[in-house]
Amino acid sequence: MSMNPQSQIRSALEQEQFLKILSREEALARFEAALFPRAVPSEKRKLGDALGVALAEDITAPIDVPPFDRSNVDGFAVRSADLAAAGEGAPRRLTLNGETIHCGIAPRMQVAAGTATPIATGGPLPRGADAVVMVEHTQPAGSDAVDVRRAVSPGQFVSYAGSDIARGEALLRAGTIIGSREIGMLAASGIAEVSVARRPRVAVLSTGDELVQPGLKLRPAAIYDSNGAIVAAAVTENGGDAHFYGAIADDEALLEAAMRQALAENDMLVLSGGTSKGAGDLTHRIIARLGSPGIIAHGVALKPGKPLCLAVCDGKPVVILPGFPTSAMFTFHDIIVPVLRRMAGLPPRTDATVHAKVPVRIASELGRAEFVMVSLVDGSDGLIAYPSGKGSGAITSFAQADGFLRIDALADAMPAGTQAEVTLFTPHVRVPDLVIVGSHCTGLDLVTAPLARAGLTVRSIAVGSLGGLAAAKRGECDLAPIHLFDEKTESYNTPFLSDGLELVPGWRRMQGIVFRRGDARFESRSAPDAVRAALADPACIMVNRNQGAGTRILIDRLLGAARPDGYWNQPKSHNAVAAAVGQHRADWGMTIAPVAHAAGLGFIPLAEEHYDFAVVTARKSRPAVQAFLASLASEESKAALAQAGFRPA
Ligand code: AMP
Ligand code: MG
Repeated sequence: MSMNPQSQIRSALEQEQFLKILSREEALARFEAALFPRAVPSEKRKLGDALGVALAEDITAPIDVPPFDRSNVDGFAVRSADLAAAGEGAPRRLTLNGETIHCGIAPRMQVAAGTATPIATGGPLPRGADAVVMVEHTQPAGSDAVDVRRAVSPGQFVSYAGSDIARGEALLRAGTIIGSREIGMLAASGIAEVSVARRPRVAVLSTGDELVQPGLKLRPAAIYDSNGAIVAAAVTENGGDAHFYGAIADDEALLEAAMRQALAENDMLVLSGGTSKGAGDLTHRIIARLGSPGIIAHGVALKPGKPLCLAVCDGKPVVILPGFPTSAMFTFHDIIVPVLRRMAGLPPRTDATVHAKVPVRIASELGRAEFVMVSLVDGSDGLIAYPSGKGSGAITSFAQADGFLRIDALADAMPAGTQAEVTLFTPHVRVPDLVIVGSHCTGLDLVTAPLARAGLTVRSIAVGSLGGLAAAKRGECDLAPIHLFDEKTESYNTPFLSDGLELVPGWRRMQGIVFRRGDARFESRSAPDAVRAALADPACIMVNRNQGAGTRILIDRLLGAARPDGYWNQPKSHNAVAAAVGQHRADWGMTIAPVAHAAGLGFIPLAEEHYDFAVVTARKSRPAVQAFLASLASEESKAALAQAGFRPA
C-alpha cells in the first residue's frame, strides 16, 4: 500500500501525537479499550493437567456427593426407635441380619424392627435403617445378636446423599484458579475433563547488542540478559505461556524478522530494551509496520518506566518494556499484568497494603507518578519503610524489596516521617528477625549464614556507615556495621557512638593499593614508593574513592597535594575500584585485600580498617541479636572470615 505525500505527513503527525507522555491511568485505559472486550479462548484439559489454570465455564454438580446415605463409623445400621429406651444399665438386644455392609457393597436386606446390620465406615445405609450405632457402644451377644448400650438419634453417624455436594448445585465458577482442592471437588463429582481458559502464548524478546545469555561467557562491555528470564517468569506467574525468543541485536532487519515471527506464533509480544528515544530506537518504527492500530502509548508519566511503549497490532498486544530491569519489572507488573490476566481469564490480582513510616526524605521528579521500592522493618511504633537506595538499573532493588510506595506526580518529595501506604509484593508482611543497616561487607554474609540456617530472617540494608549510625540512633535497626575513621583521635568507630549504642568489634580489613599483576610501577614496591612511581608517570591513571569514605582519607594522605589523572573518578565501593583497574580504565586505586584477590589483581597492603558493629543497646537482648553476637564470636565464623581474607578482631 503506497501513501500520497500528504497522508504520509498526516500519518507522521499522528505518530508524533503518540509520543506525547500519557498519565499511567490514561495509557492503561487506552490500551484496554483497544484490546477488550474479547473472548477468552478455552481448551479442554484432563484434571491432571488442570492445576493452576482458570476454569473457562461454570460447573454444575452432575451427581450427589455422597451418592447415597453413608455410614461415618464402623458399627451397626439400626432403627433409632428400637433403641429409645437403651442405656448403660439397660442394654437392648438386636438380632443381626445375615449380611455385612463393607464399602462398595450394596445392601440386599432390610433392617426390620428389632434387627441390626453390621456396617463399615463408608458403607451405604440399608433400607429400613435410619441411624448407625458405633461398635464401641455395643457388645456381641452370641453369633447372631448384639447388645446396644446407648440410645441413638435419627441420622446419627449418617452422611445423607448430596449433603457434601448436591446435584445441580453450582460447584465452581468460571475464573476460579484450579488448585488441589478444586481438583478434589471435580474428581468427587466424577468430572475427568474441564474447559479451562487457554493460557495466552506470550513471546518474550530482549533487544540490545550488549546482551549475553546467562551461562555464556561475558565479553568486555557486555551484560547478561536478565530481562528475558524475569519477564518470561513473570508472564508464567500471571497465567501466560511464555516463549523466549532470545536477545536480538539492535539491527532493524533482524529485529523486524524476529518480531514478525514472534507475533505470528503468539497471542502477545513483550520486548524489552530499545525504548529510549535514541539511536537504538528501532522497535517503534517496526511496530508501526506490524499491524493496526499500532502504537497506543509511547511514554507514560511513570517512574520508573517512562519509555514504556504500548501497541496493538491486528488485535494482539505488543509491549516494549524499558531496558533497565527494575523499570521493566515495575511497568510489567503495573500495566501489563492487568491486561495479561484478563486475556488469561484470571481475576485481577489483589495486592495487600500496609502503612509504614518513611524514615528519610525521598526526592521525586515533578510531573511523574513515582514508585519507590521499599524494605520493611519493625520500628518501635509500627512499620518503617526504607527506600531502596539503588536506581532503576539495579535488579536487586526489585528483588529485595517488600513492596513499593507511590509519590504523587505533583509532589517533588515525600518528607521524612510520612506515614505512607505500601503495596506489598507478597500477601503478608514479612518482618525480618534481624535488621542490619549500614555499610555492607562480604564478611557480613559469612556471619549471618548460621542465622539463616537456624530459620532467622536477616535483612541487610546497605546505606553506608553514616546512614547506618543515623538509623541506629533512631532505633530503626538492631545493629549498624560501620568503618569510620576519626582523624582527630586517629581511631576507628568509637568516637562516633552516641547514647544508646555500644560497639561490638567485628573484623579488620586490610586496605592497600590494587594494580594489575606485572605492572612494574607497583610490583614489589611499598605503598608510598608505588604512589611515587605512579605520580612520576603522566600516562598513569588512578581511581579514587568518594568523599567521606575511610579509604579516601588514606588515599589523600598518600597523594598529598597531587591531583593525578583519574582523581575525580570517585566510585562508592571497593568492588568498583577493583573493576576499574581490572578493566584497564585505571591503573591503580585503593581497595580491601579480599576484593583485590577475588578480582585476581595485585595488592600492596597499607593499613587495616576496622569494621565493627554499633549495636542498639535497647535491642541487644532480642534473640536474633543474641544469635548474631554468638555467631560473630564463634570459631566457625572466625575461620570463615580468615579464609575470606579478613582478620577477626
Ligand atoms: P535501552 O532501553 O535498550 O536503551 O536499555 C536501557 C538500559 O537497560 C541499558 O543499560 C541496557 O543495557 C539495559 N538493558 C536492556 N535490555 C536489558 C536486558 N534484557 N537485561 C538487562 N539489562 C538490559
Ligand atoms: Mg538497548
